[in-house]
Amino acid sequence: MISKRVPIRKCIVCSERKPKEEFLMIVRPAENKLGAELSVMSGEDKKSGRGYYICKNIDCVQKAKRVRRLERLFSKRYNFEPEKIYRLLEKAVHKDD
Ligand SMILES: [Zn+2]
Repeated sequence: MISKRVPIRKCIVCSERKPKEEFLMIVRPAENKLGAELSVMSGEDKKSGRGYYICKNIDCVQKAKRVRRLERLFSKRYNFEPEKIYRLLEKAVHKDD
């Protein structure tokens, strides 16, 4: 009878809140891991590090790219290639169609 509690997350682009399995997740590794790279996972995957959630739809991915959302979130602390992450996000969105 007890329903499972669904963790709710917020999109970094449109701020919509919904269950985390409806998101893609960008994982920022723990800070002390030198050379660690950002990675893209499905919202319900186990992560080590901090996760940022983005809607699993092409609109939010394209908007993130347009407003340089990832650059603003990560480039101060991380060496990363935004293009690579956007490409991974786009690929992940299309995989589920
Ligand atoms: Zn969104």
